[in-house]
Amino acid sequence: MGEIVVVANQKGGVGKTTTSINLAYALACLNQEVLLVDFDPQGNAGSGLGVTVEDGGKSVYHFLTKTAPFEQVVCQTSNELLDVLPACKNLAGAEVELVNVRGRENMLREVLEPLRAMYKYIIIDCPPSLGLLTLNAMMAADSVITPVQCEYYAMEGLAHFISTVAKIKQFLHPNLKMDGGVLTMFDARMNLSKQVFGEVSRYFGEQVYKTPIPRNIRLAEAPSFGQSIFDYDPACRGANAYIQLAIEFLGRRGANVEDYRNFKMTGGTPVNYDFGG
Ligand code: ATP
Ligand code: MG
Repeated sequence: MGEIVVVANQKGGVGKTTTSINLAYALACLNQEVLLVDFDPQGNAGSGLGVTVEDGGKSVYHFLTKTAPFEQVVCQTSNELLDVLPACKNLAGAEVELVNVRGRENMLREVLEPLRAMYKYIIIDCPPSLGLLTLNAMMAADSVITPVQCEYYAMEGLAHFISTVAKIKQFLHPNLKMDGGVLTMFDARMNLSKQVFGEVSRYFGEQVYKTPIPRNIRLAEAPSFGQSIFDYDPACRGANAYIQLAIEFLGRRGANVEDYRNFKMTGGTPVNYDFGG
């Protein structure tokens, strides 16, 4: 049965969508069947993979509200193992429309549950808030990944986020697991980045991912071409980092990372996975 993983942090612009897209894509490159759910009305996770919803088209909003079946909403990507459920502006309205619906926080869980049989991993990209959409995503998920941008204010809000997840776990969803923090926009030349890594490690303990995502202009350029980093520039540092992150992700779930030692992008340039010796 597939695992549902939510990528969340209420802080804006920390790399949630970049991580959702490229972690999902990297997992597909590593032979896993993956569904990426764009659960942010901004729709960046879908458009970053070249998938947009036309006016009047069906999106994850319709799937959530059971006004369209999965088959009408799911889209293919350039990797046959990766599908995406795109979002559209309607999703913003869902927060208001659902206010009086019973069980409103469990709606995403209900519709995603049957899809576990079809995918190994379902990755949900969240909006930058702790509203009803993010709550739905957390209720649907087994585990939470939290991108943290390496910047001066990185820790601001992180305590609040972590305590919110703890409350959800305590009162609503005891099986929810903190999978850990991922450092994004990391610059090894800056002391600040190292400091943030240190602080975040103290916060998450063992659960911080050892693979930081470097600040890499190619990662920022790729979405404007509707491409993951693996289509846009599979040999760049950003692509390499997301492959390493995906291998670490699989390693935490019992995979033997040695199996990936000779991993090469199909039809592309080899990605040199750094096993650290
Ligand atoms: P929001 O809260 O608005 O949903 P987000 O948390 O999803 O934002 P992203 O959209 O992934 O954040 O990233 C914010 C900006 O930073 C984008 O312009 C993105 O291209 C850029 N960016 C993300 N990661 C990196 C990176 N590692 N190197 C360089 N630029 C990056
Ligand atoms: Mg985003």
